[in-house]
Amino acid sequence: MNNPNQQPNILFIMSDDHASHAMSCYGSKINKTPNLDRIAINGMRFDNCFCTNSICTPSRAAILTGTYNHINEVTTLDTHMDNRLQTFPKLLQENGYQTGMFGKWHLGQGPNHCPTGFDDWAVLPGQGLYHNPDFIFKDDTVPGGRRETVRGYVTDLITDFSLDWLKNRDTNKPFCLMYHHKAPHREWEPDEKHAHMYLNEDIPEPVTLYDDYTNRASAAKAAEMRVGVHMRTTDLKVEINHEIPEMELRKWAYQRYIKDYLRVVASIDDNVGRVLDYLEEAGLSENTLIIYTSDQGFFLGDHGWYDKRFMYEESLRMPFIVSYPKEIKAGSVNKDMILNVDFAPLFLDLAGVPIPETMQGHSIRPLLKQNTPEDWRDAMYYRYWMHKSHHNVYAHYGLRTHKYKLIYYYADALGQAGAIDETYEPEWELFDLETDPHELNNIYHDIQYADVVKGLTDRLHYMQKDVGDERYYKDVA
Ligand code: CA
Repeated sequence: MNNPNQQPNILFIMSDDHASHAMSCYGSKINKTPNLDRIAINGMRFDNCFCTNSICTPSRAAILTGTYNHINEVTTLDTHMDNRLQTFPKLLQENGYQTGMFGKWHLGQGPNHCPTGFDDWAVLPGQGLYHNPDFIFKDDTVPGGRRETVRGYVTDLITDFSLDWLKNRDTNKPFCLMYHHKAPHREWEPDEKHAHMYLNEDIPEPVTLYDDYTNRASAAKAAEMRVGVHMRTTDLKVEINHEIPEMELRKWAYQRYIKDYLRVVASIDDNVGRVLDYLEEAGLSENTLIIYTSDQGFFLGDHGWYDKRFMYEESLRMPFIVSYPKEIKAGSVNKDMILNVDFAPLFLDLAGVPIPETMQGHSIRPLLKQNTPEDWRDAMYYRYWMHKSHHNVYAHYGLRTHKYKLIYYYADALGQAGAIDETYEPEWELFDLETDPHELNNIYHDIQYADVVKGLTDRLHYMQKDVGDERYYKDVA
């Protein structure tokens, strides 16, 4: 089992808030990511990879544990992960892998929440800074790690740490490296090298930039994440004139916002290129599973928003590109539905390590080999718990199939840490993703869809039970 020739290396690259519609391999209309594209060109692009809760900390816990947030209890930003939970790095470490974790952790700090299951790690405290950030380094003499400021730009530094670890590893053992960027998380601070990109051009606007939130449940209008109106000076690096009419302000602020976002992405692309170059030079490309993903999607002016949280497409969808020449045909594309809880089972499957029954995701290995099982999921369950906090987004859960999306805003904190205890009347939304891909027209109350609503509601409850979650008490079909 521990033969390095049999067990593949795993390089898991994850950024923070990088939406797939800002990657050229996904057909981005706004930027180019030539290095990230190398992974898709050499491997497979997944077009329907979804998170089960679109926010940093919970998605990271789902990835590590292979479980939904009601099981791992990391439901919001304020519920830090108990580092005694079973995770895939721990199981890989126990089965002959050397394991490393560098960059953004965001699952809590201190002895009970710092990374475990890694031979070495260095992580940012909380969100971390873009320039001259503090890191917490693994130090066996300091419980929870040793904090130190490092000079430089965060994306370069995380790459330097990762490359140093790779270069100094024990070549007799397979490795699993989690290489996690902070970028392109708010507040989108570019480095010198990329600060002058896009200076004399306009970035194309998304089709829903001027959304006015009609024909939706009230949650969309209530959300406080509109480009311009709900931004701060630190977001746009210039004083915002809030006297300007909203749509005019939105048009102007979008350009400032998106340019910084894309500059920060450009640095990720360069740095991932450095790591891919190293793997090629070291002859490691063949036997290494390389993944690039992000903890969730992001609104890039879509619906007039920045941020995430909603079960709407731009926020729900994660980029997921993977290369592994031994099992993946170069340049392939997959449309099956995969989830963040599937990652841990995949890594264990490839390493020949039994997948614990407590893990709720499924290994996507057959999908990589273009051999999707007939009973592969055709619907997914989502839940956002952090009611009203930060951007006034209401708590909701829902079901997405390939054709429909059903969302139930239960709009209640339910005692969750980090949620605000103000309850509203629940509301439903239904979207036909084929005829309304931008989700602008809620058809839940349209009599023509009564049977669809009935069927999907039943399915939602069935799936909720299946994953061990509970219905909201007012949620009746
Ligand atoms: Ca995030």
